[in-house]
Amino acid sequence: VGKDSFGNDYVENLKKNGISTAFVGQTTDAATGTASIIVNSEGQNVIVIVPGANLLLNFEDLKRASDVICKAKVVVCQLEITPAVSLEALKMARASGVKTLFNPAPALADLDPQFYTHSDIFCCNETEAEILTGIPVGNLEDAEKVGRMLLERGCKLVIVTLGAEGCMMISVEEPIPKHVPAGKVRAVDTTGAGDSFVGALAFYLAYYPKLPMEEMIRKSNYVASVSVQASGTQSSYPYRKDLPQDLF
Ligand code: ADP
Repeated sequence: VGKDSFGNDYVENLKKNGISTAFVGQTTDAATGTASIIVNSEGQNVIVIVPGANLLLNFEDLKRASDVICKAKVVVCQLEITPAVSLEALKMARASGVKTLFNPAPALADLDPQFYTHSDIFCCNETEAEILTGIPVGNLEDAEKVGRMLLERGCKLVIVTLGAEGCMMISVEEPIPKHVPAGKVRAVDTTGAGDSFVGALAFYLAYYPKLPMEEMIRKSNYVASVSVQASGTQSSYPYRKDLPQDLF
């Protein structure tokens, strides 16, 4: 993050929530990355991302954190930093037998194909699915087509999130696509729903690795569906204490 008020607040917020900031650096060479979000009356959003300091994260930073990366239970990567750095983190994790969860957001049409082969779980939304495959995703069948195509590209397990419809999952081990529906809720603001889903899934992979994948997805759908009922992104994420205890 930058050495600016957004950066200071960010680090402070992580600390307040008990998240380690040991490898969070503050730079004067760029501003903290920001995302300006516009939400309409249906709760749909448009986001303008200015990556700023995110693009300064480099291979040296990864090396410094290699101990933590290689001893983690799960490593989550996406594309809000330089893609080559994200890919290197996935490779480091993989080489140490750490489970990798990749979310291609924001999507890139010419994504390095190694992202497919180095992700244990490849999780994208409808827009990202279309940018990656050229298949517009309007329903479950389209998502299944995307899933099959991504398996052919080398993914082991693909999840396509479908907003209010929940998710589609398909894997090398279970090549018959499965629909995992989300509960019916009144969406106020869906911004950050994808991140909420990915974060919850990472939690289940780390703490309940023996749960069947469909069950992890069902629980993650639930957590994400709570987040769409409140406004904001991080501010809409529920704390563990406020969720039904049968999720744990
Ligand atoms: P993104 O935020 O990346 O666009 P999605 O819109 O696909 O991702 O949402 C991710 C997940 O959030 C969905 O798979 C679902 O679990 C949950 N979700 C999103 N929108 C709704 C909704 N309207 N009702 C219930 N759950 C939702």
